[in-house]
Amino acid sequence: MTLKPTRRARRRLRRAGLWLGGLCLFLLGSAALVGGCLSAPGHEGAMTPHFDGKRFANHVPVPEKGLSDMLRWWWLRKPGAWPERQEALPPRPRPEREVREPGRVRVTFVNHATVLLQLDGVNLLTDPVYSDRVGPFAWAGSKRHLPPGIAFAALPRIDLVLVSHNHYDHLDLPTLRRLAERDRPRVLVPLGNRALLEKHGIRGGEELDWWQSTRHGPLKLTLAPSRHWSGRGLSDRFQTLWGAHVIEGSGGPIYFAGDTGWGPHFEEARRRFGAFRLALLPIGAYQPRWFMRESHISPDEAVDAHLALEAATSVAIHFGTFRLSDEAQDDPPRELRAALRARKVVGERFWVLGQGEARDLPRAAARPSAVTCAPARPVCAL
Ligand SMILES: [Zn+2]
Repeated sequence: MTLKPTRRARRRLRRAGLWLGGLCLFLLGSAALVGGCLSAPGHEGAMTPHFDGKRFANHVPVPEKGLSDMLRWWWLRKPGAWPERQEALPPRPRPEREVREPGRVRVTFVNHATVLLQLDGVNLLTDPVYSDRVGPFAWAGSKRHLPPGIAFAALPRIDLVLVSHNHYDHLDLPTLRRLAERDRPRVLVPLGNRALLEKHGIRGGEELDWWQSTRHGPLKLTLAPSRHWSGRGLSDRFQTLWGAHVIEGSGGPIYFAGDTGWGPHFEEARRRFGAFRLALLPIGAYQPRWFMRESHISPDEAVDAHLALEAATSVAIHFGTFRLSDEAQDDPPRELRAALRARKVVGERFWVLGQGEARDLPRAAARPSAVTCAPARPVCAL
């Protein structure tokens, strides 16, 4: 005997189906609307070999990840351990007000990709992030697992900010606004990112294309290619530029990688600028490799980058602070040490600094760059 649904039951089922379909459409529409609203304004400018009038492209393409890749990641993921937020950090001395001695470079690791560089009388911050969460809203996005190693109030005057790209964990609008209000620094951003700053009332933004340079007192700043992507919403991917920053001062060239996958751009930078005095290289957000490989180097590849750049010293960044991927919180430095041992790279040449730890670069490792600086003169000749 077969049970046939009554006409009334069929009507109810149809109605439930309509409700469910409507709800799905509403949720998808809302997601698209919110994603669209969050999207950053795109770059408007002439076409170049890496800009087609709407989107930027890497030298080595980064395939776009879609919803099916995201679902696959979330379905298969086996995330490593990240303990709850740790509040107690070892006390650190307040950073020096500035460093003026020619050739001297002081590096302070705040955490994530935020590093205070002090050289030639200039105080410079890379990708400054002080927010508790990195995401589209104060309550959404990856939360901070370690407080900043240097309190915002303890930062010395900031003259210059280098932003690598517009992802939330690198371009943090609340932090940039605080810096703009306190110190009015120049903010060097890759092409297309100034509009976002101005939309949020942040002045001082200046855009650079790949291989374009500007000067700041004794320093020469150049944006170099990296292999990554951009986007803050659902409809703005690849529409603003990303890149690495090169800083040339009296102590030799310094490389700030930002976020990047592996590619020939490291060797290209070495060819153009010579061996680097310092490289700030990301070692986190690399698991699972099938998902992250094209846009984030692993600790192993960070050693390759250190060698390709011929860096006298490298400093590990972009690990342990925000949980962005599947490796455990302490995996990156452990894997970095193993990779350094395997390649027989002397550990002292690739530093993993503690939160807020500051060091002067070894003087013996200084290599002159194209910039020369007479000690008696406050401004170097480029
Ligand atoms: Zn990124």
